[in-house]
Amino acid sequence: MARALTLAHTHRAALRSDFTEQLGLTRTATGLVLRELETLSLVRTGTVSRVHTGTAMTGRPSHPVEIHPAAPTVLAVQVQAKSVLIAESGLGGQLGPVDEVPLPEPANPDAVLGLVADLLSVRLGTLDRCPIGAGLAVPSAVGSDGMALAAHPLDWPQAVPVRRLLTELLARGGHRGVRLAVGNDANLAALAESRHGAGRGAAQMLYVMTGQVGVGGGLVIDGRLHLGSAGYALEIGHTPVRRGKRPCRCGNRGCLDVEADPSALLSAAGLSAAEPTLDAARAVIARRDVDPGARGATDLVIQRLAGGLASMINILNPDRIVLGGMHADLLAAEEDRLRAGLRRHSFLQQAAQIELRPAELASSALAGAAELALQPLLDNPRLLT
Ligand SMILES: [Zn+2]
Repeated sequence: MARALTLAHTHRAALRSDFTEQLGLTRTATGLVLRELETLSLVRTGTVSRVHTGTAMTGRPSHPVEIHPAAPTVLAVQVQAKSVLIAESGLGGQLGPVDEVPLPEPANPDAVLGLVADLLSVRLGTLDRCPIGAGLAVPSAVGSDGMALAAHPLDWPQAVPVRRLLTELLARGGHRGVRLAVGNDANLAALAESRHGAGRGAAQMLYVMTGQVGVGGGLVIDGRLHLGSAGYALEIGHTPVRRGKRPCRCGNRGCLDVEADPSALLSAAGLSAAEPTLDAARAVIARRDVDPGARGATDLVIQRLAGGLASMINILNPDRIVLGGMHADLLAAEEDRLRAGLRRHSFLQQAAQIELRPAELASSALAGAAELALQPLLDNPRLLT
């Protein structure tokens, strides 16, 4: 039943015959599974509206299966460097309207989590459908105990127990027992891309992105994030780059985090990196054919990115790499150079043939926070009974 619900949630099956085929069950057994999901108000089966002409079936009419309109919802929150985003979501992965609220000043853990608790309390009080819980994306490595270990963009101290503090704040506001899940923003963006974006259909998807500062990512294997033993695996940003010299916050030098983000590109182009922005970096990439400085900077950062990706390919052997933020721009602008770099730095020639795709989702970390909150229901469709 969990597999059937995940198929419906990720839109990999739209007709009853798709479920039969993908679950590997008989039509009768598939019917029983879907009927139970219907009883739980998680999916609903429509009347036959078209004839299925897929290869595995015989052209027999089949019923469309869709997410039930009364299925439970979740709340998704993302803490960014300067603001908090909040939206409602649910099965099917569609985010509702996103509200953005500026961070308080100073943005210390108590103030920020107080704001998050207030936003969640207001939403929890107005939802017209039963919420399963809430997911929170933070710009930090996150331990499996819900601890934000290094929220550098927020200048937080090490090891802030985000899940415990937020649970206490919600309880104080009268919202006890809310299921809270916390994850690293880039990891969660990877999860959302794998289920609803450019990673659909990949078995082992590596996601690498850079927004404003630093490089993040995640690895999704068969629809699940690879988190490591304590939750903070795949700190991709701290992959060393050959001949990289720039000091990194982690204590090393030459990490992808500081060698292949917008700040590094601007600095390589001889521009002030005091206020690195994605837009400024994109402008440099766009000028590369008419400005030798921009060309040099773009090529340098592509080589660094290719070196970092090649290391990850050598270790992980993913079947697809999805690139987000400025890295998606570099892929669009110079795919051949990026692939040549992969060939140069990879252990196997085959590595350069890997599928490379730009990220597709607009609010991927927020969507990933919703995925995290939905996971208990996807694992156990009878969760709320
Ligand atoms: Zn580092």
